[in-house]
Amino acid sequence: MTTATIVGAGPNGLTAAAVLARAGLDVTVLERLDHVGGASASAPAFGDQALIDLGAAAHPFGVTSAAFRALDLEQHGLEWVHADYPMAHPLPGGRAAILHRDAEQTARELGVDRYAWLRLHAPATEDPYATAESILSPILPWPTRPLHLARIGVRGAWPTSMLAPAVFRSGAAQALFAGNATHATLPLGMPLTSAFGIAFGGVGHSAGWPFAKGGSQAVPDALRRVAEAAGARVETGVDVTDLREITTDLVLLDVTPRQLLRLAGDRLERLYAQRMLRWRYGPAVSKLDLLLDGPVPWADERVARAGSVHVGGTLREIAAAEHDVAAGRMPQRPFVLLTQPTVADPERAPAGKHIVWAYAHVPHGWPGDASAHIEAQIERYAPGFAERVLERRPSPPAALELWNPNLVGGAIGGGSIGGTQQLLRPRPLRPYRVPIDGRVFLCSSSTPPGGGVHGMAGWHAAHAALRDLR
Ligand SMILES: Cc1cc2nc3c(=O)[nH]c(=O)nc-3n(C[C@H](O)[C@H](O)[C@H](O)COP(=O)(O)OP(=O)(O)OC[C@H]3O[C@@H](n4cnc5c(N)ncnc54)[C@H](O)[C@@H]3O)c2cc1C
Repeated sequence: MTTATIVGAGPNGLTAAAVLARAGLDVTVLERLDHVGGASASAPAFGDQALIDLGAAAHPFGVTSAAFRALDLEQHGLEWVHADYPMAHPLPGGRAAILHRDAEQTARELGVDRYAWLRLHAPATEDPYATAESILSPILPWPTRPLHLARIGVRGAWPTSMLAPAVFRSGAAQALFAGNATHATLPLGMPLTSAFGIAFGGVGHSAGWPFAKGGSQAVPDALRRVAEAAGARVETGVDVTDLREITTDLVLLDVTPRQLLRLAGDRLERLYAQRMLRWRYGPAVSKLDLLLDGPVPWADERVARAGSVHVGGTLREIAAAEHDVAAGRMPQRPFVLLTQPTVADPERAPAGKHIVWAYAHVPHGWPGDASAHIEAQIERYAPGFAERVLERRPSPPAALELWNPNLVGGAIGGGSIGGTQQLLRPRPLRPYRVPIDGRVFLCSSSTPPGGGVHGMAGWHAAHAALRDLR
């Protein structure tokens, strides 16, 4: 029987384990921490009063992931729960723009931009699963759904800071779109950022941006059950430090280039090793979890019913903040991505209390803690917010990396998708195969399609390994 070891039990490592175990391989997963989940783990916090997500919280690409659907996670304990609105974007002046599950309603509320909003998002709204499949697969040597990708790409290839003012007349539509595009964690003047705006907005309309009931930990827990049901073994508390410790026929690594260099020592091919050394991780995040004695007092009360909230103001403000972050400067008013899990999953906190999960985009490796910036941004759109805060739990970039070494310098996507790193992730062809020993593969978010809890890097890496075996 062919044997395989997976190093790292993040969503990608566990997805790879499930695929290989179902294909009949003898699979062992080794995880350095005492629990599985990687950056999709949850834990009790605030004196065990509440359950918080340590990493990922919102799952537009989990609910649409082809891998998660094929592995039938919902039959293995995963339940998606939705807030009334996937996302809200508070605006200067007190009103907010709302992303509804109904594209028509989103568009209607944008008034003058109604038809432009619908037209721009149509490809992603009409078929969120095709959208997820086309953007969550390697593009080289050819994309999985070229026609669908081309429909998104015609407008998606444009920088957001050019496309948004060209197609939308209102500040509300421009800001709503810019917030979605900011999930690229790139300056909005970069090509392809609009594709993120279209994909996040369109998928939000049709599939939503749900939470996992009981915390994001439910995703890796379900993956673990699928893998174990197919015969895989999971060993926690095992920190792999040298690839030579592993003697199985296949090794799949849920790590980023920096750790790969350590694990492989000087045995990597020279050109490949140089590419790993030059890998850019991109901007970081500084996270803050809060326990509140009630909902956030948003100026526009509808925002309290949204799962995710983009706190960054106008297109111009967001673009300026993202530009500064990419240039290594900490902005005074960073873009803040906030979720309100207790709106959809009230059992995560005691009755009447709420938790808020938020992070600000900050420069790579920034040595500070953005808690004060985050709270000041929220206070702008929710006057009186600070009085609701009972407890704080900051996780600045250094703390994130200490928890999970894949979060190099506080970067959460396994490496920037700017420049060539979107297509050449981490190299042009055979992206998953590591040129060493003929048995090693990378399966983390440093490979296509990149960051997010969707398991698609693990899925593609496992299939690449199976193809090589054949
Ligand atoms: C604060 C934060 C917020 C995020 N928000 C979202 C969100 O809302 N939605 C979303 O979709 N995504 C979000 N993400 C991104 C998402 O969580 C990651 O892209 C995803 O978890 C990557 O999965 P992975 O399996 O590649 O790696 P990871 O999840 O990082 O897992 C890697 C695992 O490998 C283990 N490991 C590493 N080295 C070794 C070793 N040598 N030996 C043994 N084990 C090892 C680690 O301990 C870890 O458990 C967020 C991430 C963070 C940190």
